[in-house]
Amino acid sequence: MPKLRNYKFRLYPTGQQQYKLQNNLAVCKWLYNKFVEQTQKSFLSRNDMNYILTELKQSEPWLYNYHSKMLQMVSTQLESAEKSLTELSKKGHKTGQLRFARYNEFRTFTYNQSGYKLEIHGDKTLLYLSKIGHVEIRKHREFPDNANIKQVIVTKSKTGKWFACITVDIEEPLINIPKISFAKAVGIDVGIKSFTYDSDGYSTSNPLNLKKMLKPLARVQRKVSRRKKGSNNRLKAIQHKLSAQYAKNYDVVFVEKLEKLNMVKNHRLARSIMDSSWGTFLQKLEYKCKLLVEVSAKNTTIDCSRCGNKVPKSLDTRIHKCNKCNLVLDRDHNASINILQKGLKIFNHNKLPQGLRKVTPVKIIRSMKQEKTTQFVGW
Ligand SMILES: [Zn+2]
Repeated sequence: MPKLRNYKFRLYPTGQQQYKLQNNLAVCKWLYNKFVEQTQKSFLSRNDMNYILTELKQSEPWLYNYHSKMLQMVSTQLESAEKSLTELSKKGHKTGQLRFARYNEFRTFTYNQSGYKLEIHGDKTLLYLSKIGHVEIRKHREFPDNANIKQVIVTKSKTGKWFACITVDIEEPLINIPKISFAKAVGIDVGIKSFTYDSDGYSTSNPLNLKKMLKPLARVQRKVSRRKKGSNNRLKAIQHKLSAQYAKNYDVVFVEKLEKLNMVKNHRLARSIMDSSWGTFLQKLEYKCKLLVEVSAKNTTIDCSRCGNKVPKSLDTRIHKCNKCNLVLDRDHNASINILQKGLKIFNHNKLPQGLRKVTPVKIIRSMKQEKTTQFVGW
């Protein structure tokens, strides 16, 4: 999208040029009043006015001595006057008809799209205006690179000084809008044992070691908070690294909504720690990755990610073992694949990315070797 910017520069016309500029103002005013006269009979659109202008040129051939686009812009000026009148009356103001422009009321004329040029002659900058000539301009500011002049409005101030208001549009370099590929999507499950477990089989152990932290909860509260401090820093570092990795490797990241953490509902402290650490991680992820989407956590633990069979499991059951399709997987891995599938469904991508459609035990072994923290009980 081009950006428009306005610059105002002082003009230093010669005596003869001043006469010409004034003359242009007069002609625009004359035309403006011609249009006003017509609007008193009926509403005029800009097209109507430009048609009237064409006809006028036949009867008043001296109009050809003026820049045609400048004359056309008078109709634009009048149209906006008409519009603001209509707006006013819509708002309940009493509005009459358009007034005729009086002497000295008409202070601007506009060269739009054509009929102007900035030229450097020696140490002077000149604004060339078609039918008027080269007018000296004090261009005290440079335009940015890639700036194109769209319009020049010449204005006479009340004290008789002449100015050029130059509108430029700046071609901005195209911003690269990241293309999102759903083939590069991942689901992440969060838990107590593994901080994250994703649908590609990678897991991170929980640096908080919540189980340890929970034990002394009833007895020595202080120890907990001391432990919490140290692990907090570790957690921060891990979150940073982890979120950066996911942002780098994936376009879309699906996670489950926080309600899932009800599973630690018996331990309020654990719950709050998990909530906040997971929340911080999500913030980092959202900031870094192209698209982060939360999906409902419903049944992500129970459903078999391969066949959809319901496999209820207690909190202690670490393995998902489907008696229907024989899929055996880490429970969190199974959940993360369900999260990915749920997410893809939202975007009508019903197929899992290549290579993920069949999760085989072989794949699990491989991911286990890469991630030593993953304990696997076997199948
Ligand atoms: Zn199954």
